[in-house]
Amino acid sequence: MNSTNDQTTSLPITIDSITKTYGIMKVLSDVGLSIKSGEFMTLLGPSGSGKTTLLMVLAGFIRPDQGSVKFGDEEVILKAPHRRGVGMMFQNYALFPHMSVEANIGYPLKIRGEDKATIKSKVNEVLETVQLGGYGGRRISELSGGQRQRIALARAIVFKPRILLMDEPLSALDKNLRELMQLELRTMHEQLGMTTVLVTHDQREALTMSDRIAVLRNGQIAQVDTSEALYNAPNSEFVAAFMGESSFLEVEHKGDFFFFGNQKLMTESIADPQAARHLLVLRPEKLEYLQRGEQDRYNCFEGTVEKILFQGESCLGYVRLLSGELIPVRRNIRESNRTTLPKVGDNVVLGLHPNETRIVTSE
Ligand code: ADP
Ligand code: MG
Repeated sequence: MNSTNDQTTSLPITIDSITKTYGIMKVLSDVGLSIKSGEFMTLLGPSGSGKTTLLMVLAGFIRPDQGSVKFGDEEVILKAPHRRGVGMMFQNYALFPHMSVEANIGYPLKIRGEDKATIKSKVNEVLETVQLGGYGGRRISELSGGQRQRIALARAIVFKPRILLMDEPLSALDKNLRELMQLELRTMHEQLGMTTVLVTHDQREALTMSDRIAVLRNGQIAQVDTSEALYNAPNSEFVAAFMGESSFLEVEHKGDFFFFGNQKLMTESIADPQAARHLLVLRPEKLEYLQRGEQDRYNCFEGTVEKILFQGESCLGYVRLLSGELIPVRRNIRESNRTTLPKVGDNVVLGLHPNETRIVTSE
């Protein structure tokens, strides 16, 4: 699809101080977020954290108690949904099953008053974009789940919206199809360039798709960052636990340093020293089984191997530290020399590189 003739293909979104309450329940609490023009932003959080509510505020279906939403320079908070010009793909935003593919996709153009010939050509164009060229005459009931998702996407983008909003669009698909669609959505975004906001509770989907991710917790934004930064430098126990696997060791802030027991940790990590608790984040794949002589370059944790599980591409070990915690350790089998993988009962020293040593705050 060629959208280069349009003056702008995308708009920045500026969300400021959005609060929404239902009765005494604060569903969104002073939410602020700036989304760049053309950015793929994902709202990620557990069920009930307020993702859908925030997306509905952007779409115009929910009026917040206070706050502002700007598309470009324009305040849209009082604008009706159909006047906001956003494309939408919601899980329950169903296709019309009795209508043809063509009629479904053409619908947003029809209600915008476009003529039949224009509709036909735009529908054919967008069908190519979603790789369903020639499917215009089919009925929705004749299509597979994945094809229906693509038709829903085609309907959302056919009028070349400068903003695309999607709420768990792939959650009904099985894993393989979902991963394929993730790739296609991402490619399509790179081609069309509209500002995109995706809601998901699936952290892997968020990591795969997004330029940046806003993690929501109880109606507030816990952290906004790129996938890599969120994964490698979470700012809180909540974000670390939500993004990927991790275990935690309680550490103490004394002087200018963090200590695990009597052990001073080498780290560049900066965590608010005033916080109630500090935790060291242990990602299974960042821990290594150290050899003799390697130990001075790492933060070290001694323990005994309790379990070794072969998992195909990797090997998952469980190590009981001398301090009592059971810590999962994942090693890639091809990278690690098989002879260096320990056996159950072995005493081992786990190493965590100072650059990978992340301390977070906790309530
Ligand atoms: P998410 O999409 O992250 O799962 P939602 O935005 O749908 O979360 O909901 C956030 C919270 O607001 C939930 O606790 C939900 O029960 C509540 N909620 C959503 N809509 C309403 C409503 N119309 N009336 C009362 N409570 C609501
Ligand atoms: Mg939701």
